[in-house]
Amino acid sequence: MSLQLDARQRAMLAEMGIKVWLPTAENKSIPPETKVVGKAAPITQPIARPIAQPVVETIAKLPTVERSLPSGINVMNWIQLQQAVSTCNACGLCEGRVSAVFGSKLLAENPSNANWLIVGEHADDQEEFESQAFVGPAGELLDNMLKAMGLQRAPDVSQPIAKPQAFVTHAIKCKPSNHRKSTQQEIQTCHAHLKRQIELIKPRVILAMGQSAIQSLLKESVPDIEKMVLGKLRGEIYRYQDIPVIVTYPPSYLLKSAGDKSKAWRDLCLALRVASGPQNAGN
Ligand code: SF4
Repeated sequence: MSLQLDARQRAMLAEMGIKVWLPTAENKSIPPETKVVGKAAPITQPIARPIAQPVVETIAKLPTVERSLPSGINVMNWIQLQQAVSTCNACGLCEGRVSAVFGSKLLAENPSNANWLIVGEHADDQEEFESQAFVGPAGELLDNMLKAMGLQRAPDVSQPIAKPQAFVTHAIKCKPSNHRKSTQQEIQTCHAHLKRQIELIKPRVILAMGQSAIQSLLKESVPDIEKMVLGKLRGEIYRYQDIPVIVTYPPSYLLKSAGDKSKAWRDLCLALRVASGPQNAGN
């Protein structure tokens, strides 16, 4: 039985906080006995829900990716090594990359005339697009640093080789996504490529620019290197397979922290002394 109320009675009930269900166009079809004032009608039938698949079963169905370094890296020549890096899938950084950055692009010759090796951290957006290490503003700053040291980037095919050459590369050849830091595993995996580059170039001195470069090059010689900050490692001469290694800031950092440029210059001066002869290195 429905309750017939006039406007004045409804206003009085509202004032007292009493709600009254009134038929509307939408719920006219609901039988009056199911209409409850002030609380929801009881649900007599259970609601059917989709049954979730076990996570373990879902993961097991994903295809397993076989990850491995190209075989025979330690006997590859310069061309073979470039090809191996360009198709390497040894770590997850290969997924979605535009290109791996070997160092300089289209370098057909082993830069055995490069006395210097500059090792940065890893490829970035612009570098992977251009397939070349140290491009853009950071690359310009590096070139200016090299110029100040009397060096030129190898190979500078536009110029006669008039100055000592520096080959530039990164510890990690592919770009980590979302500008995150490289992991220890990525550094260690990609080290095989850097190691072979060093064996082929045989530089007189290596400049390690940045944390990943330091960890890749000094893991064997400095205990707990992954826990040490770059600033504490500066000013010393380290060794990688008997080649002197000098630690300094990467150009990308110096662009943001110009106050540390004077410290970087001191590092470069130390590297110059080392390159000109070990007897001068400690002066
Ligand atoms: S970062 Fe190095 S190890 Fe990882 S896929 Fe690229 S080239 Fe291979």
